[in-house]
Formats: sequence, C-alpha cells, structure tokens
Amino acid sequence: MAETRVESEERLVQWLRDAHAMEKQAETMLHGMEERIENYPHLRKRLAQHLKETQHQAQRLEDAIGRLGGSTSAIKDTAASMVTLVQNLGTALAGDEVMKGVLAGFAFEHYEIGSYRILIAAAGVLGDKETARICRENLREEEDMAQWLSQNIDSITAEYLEREDRGSERAKR
Ligand code: MG
Ligand code: FE
Repeated sequence: MAETRVESEERLVQWLRDAHAMEKQAETMLHGMEERIENYPHLRKRLAQHLKETQHQAQRLEDAIGRLGGSTSAIKDTAASMVTLVQNLGTALAGDEVMKGVLAGFAFEHYEIGSYRILIAAAGVLGDKETARICRENLREEEDMAQWLSQNIDSITAEYLEREDRGSERAKR
C-alpha cells in the first residue's frame, strides 16, 4: 500500500475492529435468541445457522486485522445502541419477545450490510484485495440472512398473533 495512504490504512484497521466488535455482539445476540426460542423451529434453525456463520465472520476479520498488523485485543464497542437493544432482549421475560428479536435481527443485519459495504469500498480505495474479498464473503452471508428475515417476517408475525389469540402461554417465544 502507498505510503501516502497511512491514515486511510489506519482507518481501515479501525473499521475492521469495529466490525469485529459488531460480530461478537451478533454472536451474543444470536446465541441468546436461539437458546430462548421454544417454538418457531424454522426461525430457530436459521438463527443457529447464522450463529455459525457469524463465528466464521469474526475469525475472518481477526485474520484481516492481524495481516494488517493490528490486534483485536483493545476492541472499542461502537455499536452501543445495538448492545442496549440486545440487553433489553435478554431481559424480556414477558411480552412479544420473539417479535422483538425478529425486529432487532432485521435491524442488525442491515447495520452489518452497511458496515461491510463501507469496508469493501475502503479496501478498494487502498487496493487491499484480500480484505475486500473476506468482507464480500461476510456481506453475502448478511444479505442472505436479511433476505431470509424479509421472506419470513410475515409468516412469523402471523404465527405469533395466532398463538397469542389462542391464549397460548408460549406465544412469547
Ligand atoms: Mg455478521
Ligand atoms: Fe449477520
């Protein structure tokens, strides 16, 4: 990379660290949701799949950061609002928990898509093909997850309301 791009390269590493913190947050969120959902097996299965993908995404980012001479030891969590959202989820023992989870997941996937779009653009500016490549891999998985949620949000909502109308104790999750 060109010497004149030192500032940009440092910025790219910082954004990769931010993305790594985002994926660790996603891991916590997906794990919590997957564990708590008792019904909606379709959703649970997809969350479990994305949890595995998310762990690989975090590893790819760690590798990229390491290759650029950075470390993930001093991660600043810039996704503070997302953390709050997730913490609220974890304590939502009553109410429409599954729907709050779907909503948080929908928002989170789009946040991730935005993050990787920026990283791919930045890596492109710096001519860092390997970073661009791993970010495209991660992006594809986020887009697939966002698309799955988009395709299933109607049926999950309908199922939730149906359960609630039947007075099912289990409607919540
Ligand atoms: Mg992710
Ligand atoms: Fe994701």
